[in-house]
Amino acid sequence: MKITVTAIKADIGSIGGHTRPSDEVLEAVGNFVRENSRSAGIIDSYISYTGDDIHLLMSHRNGVDNKKIHKIAWDAFKLGTEIAKKQGLYGAGQDLLKDSFSGNVKGMGPGVAEMEFEERANEAFALITMDKTEPGAFNFPIYRLFCEPSANTGLIVNPALARGVKMVIMDVMENKKAELSIPEDNFLIAALLMYPGRYVIDTVHNKTEPIFVATTDRLHNIAGTYIGKDDPAAIIRLQKNFPATEEACSMFRLAHYVAGDTRGSHHMPLMPVKIKTSATTNYCIPIVSCVIFSMHDGRFTAFADAFETPDWDYYRTRAVKKAEFMREQGFVHPATLIPEELEYNKGYQAMMAEAKKKFK
Ligand SMILES: [Mg+2]
Repeated sequence: MKITVTAIKADIGSIGGHTRPSDEVLEAVGNFVRENSRSAGIIDSYISYTGDDIHLLMSHRNGVDNKKIHKIAWDAFKLGTEIAKKQGLYGAGQDLLKDSFSGNVKGMGPGVAEMEFEERANEAFALITMDKTEPGAFNFPIYRLFCEPSANTGLIVNPALARGVKMVIMDVMENKKAELSIPEDNFLIAALLMYPGRYVIDTVHNKTEPIFVATTDRLHNIAGTYIGKDDPAAIIRLQKNFPATEEACSMFRLAHYVAGDTRGSHHMPLMPVKIKTSATTNYCIPIVSCVIFSMHDGRFTAFADAFETPDWDYYRTRAVKKAEFMREQGFVHPATLIPEELEYNKGYQAMMAEAKKKFK
């Protein structure tokens, strides 16, 4: 019998800026989901946060895009928003862009990543969550994981991975998707993923099974104006015919430069952090965390923090060094994003309009 794992995330307010949700908000959201699980058919749930984003993970047998599941998450975030408002949290309810639920949270602000599959006896998967960056931040690590043998020997020695996979890439500006094959389309894929602000990896699957799915909504396309970085999350299945846990997780040790951080307007390295880490006040270096799950009969029987071991402290330090180098660049591109990608582009346009008056 197939199982569906659904991750839904939203920023509904945080402490003293864009740092982390309050304990009271987290408790209210988590309790609401647990209390209403049975009526929606939720088998198990997990709640966490990365920076200012709350992540709900739910297992059920209702399939993807299920109204009951999406509504539970929506109502939980609504309730959390009420508490965030009472506490005066910053940006309370900022990712809930619509007033009433219409059957699916897609297009309403929260990000969704979900997949349905036949559960293995020892099902292993990870929930990877990021803050202060954009969906394209997954491009480079996931490309290297599935397309680059020099980064992942599993592509050579694991026959299932060596057969290649299909990668669905989304054009977030035109809201279109393309399915490409690895290894045949390797260079085409690379050409697209070169611009993570526009082309993002949506899903990865083999002939019969889903392997990776990410949130790909662009908040500024939903709201018509840029109102916040659309911090992404993804689910990836691990082991056996899929990437090994250590193959997938090690792709994040490079701390590659991504768009985001302070005012969503800079390039900074993506720093791997432990679960339940606040957004750093050090110019909001973008962060990524990863929880690994074992699942049996739809229950999240145990989980572990993928980035908690001492070696990851070294990569955190490396990320901070890369951040320092970039900040030495000040306001000069590529430290800052191109004008169209600046979260505060209205402010920049106003400034440029003034500046242009000086030209004769
Ligand atoms: Mg965030």
